[in-house]
Amino acid sequence: MFKPEGAESLLMIPGPTPVAAEILAALSEPTIAHTSAGLAAIIARCQAGIRSVAGGERAEIFLFAGSGTLAQEAAIVNLVAPGERLLVASNGFFGDRFRQIAEAHNIPVDHLTANLGESVSPDALDEQLRLSGGTTVTLTHVDTATGVAAPLPELVAVAKHHGALVILDAVCSLGGMSVDMDALGVDVVLSGAQKALGVPPGLVILAVSKAALNRRRSIERVPTYYADLANWETSMRDPKQYFSTHAVNLFYALDVALRRILDEGLKARVARHLAMAEGFRAGMAVLGFVPLTERTVLAPTLSVLAYPEGVEDGEFRDALAANGVIAAGCLGRWKGRGVRFGHMGNTTTRDIETGLRAVADAVGGDGGVEAARAVMG
Ligand SMILES: *Cc1c(COP(=O)(O)O)cnc(C)c1O
Repeated sequence: MFKPEGAESLLMIPGPTPVAAEILAALSEPTIAHTSAGLAAIIARCQAGIRSVAGGERAEIFLFAGSGTLAQEAAIVNLVAPGERLLVASNGFFGDRFRQIAEAHNIPVDHLTANLGESVSPDALDEQLRLSGGTTVTLTHVDTATGVAAPLPELVAVAKHHGALVILDAVCSLGGMSVDMDALGVDVVLSGAQKALGVPPGLVILAVSKAALNRRRSIERVPTYYADLANWETSMRDPKQYFSTHAVNLFYALDVALRRILDEGLKARVARHLAMAEGFRAGMAVLGFVPLTERTVLAPTLSVLAYPEGVEDGEFRDALAANGVIAAGCLGRWKGRGVRFGHMGNTTTRDIETGLRAVADAVGGDGGVEAARAVMG
């Protein structure tokens, strides 16, 4: 039997996240024809599920093979017409990526950057839009580098006030936090499969408003073929129509994952994510780790924590891995100073305790699990 090294470890990196056995089992079912009625029904169920999870009942759902970065790229190139500018409101590494993608397509960018560990403020966005105008704004719901959850309702309202279309990167939130696309007036919610949805990596997820689709239609030609929504549209309305081969088995996994999410209930799922985050951070505080992220914008899907004095990044994560728990280092200016733990998707409160035990073992502390239990129940 094939078995990758590390298969027994608990993934506490902020994506890919642990995949439940039922979801993994779906992947190993026989691959059926990509244009079959059977697969079309599965894809249609996935689209309905994404509408529910994103709060986008009026959205068109595009699902195709790729990663979160391709979803970001697809959103930009389908919405920004030649000669138009893009306003990037960035709370970290993943927000900055929108700028890099825009630059690769020669799209001029106005870049608004938050102080490290904080969020761009609605006032700053308002001022920037007054100054530079802008017909398209990118926001990042949770920046997975800084652990910042953006104050979405306020930011989206400002962008809407200026008449801009809003692209929301929900790679690290969709399935773990409420997104409320229609209620907020977001135009594109983009995501990947491997974070809070708890599916193995490999799917682009795009929920697209009518206004955003109309924007695409108003642009004659976009600089992509595979990620052109106009090319996918027919196939997404009727998946039996071929544009490019559907990622058949990944749709099995997404179908099962979405069913589990809707069975759990969105409200309960969001509450579980909050409880896990608060429990984990209470436990980690006892062990000497406090958030690098500003307190008012802490994301429920991951924790970005500063190392206590004397704990070295590489050694710590090696010790953790030896205990079967995988955590991620920090990126950019926090590299070496802190550590990132994901707690989203299929992660359970038991996993939180397992993680805390491994950390306690690595730093020679105790009391983390008890502190977490006091919060999580
Ligand atoms: C992980 C992540 C991405 C990039 O997704 P990939 O699947 O690695 O390409 C983009 N944005 C956010 C917020 C992410 O967390």
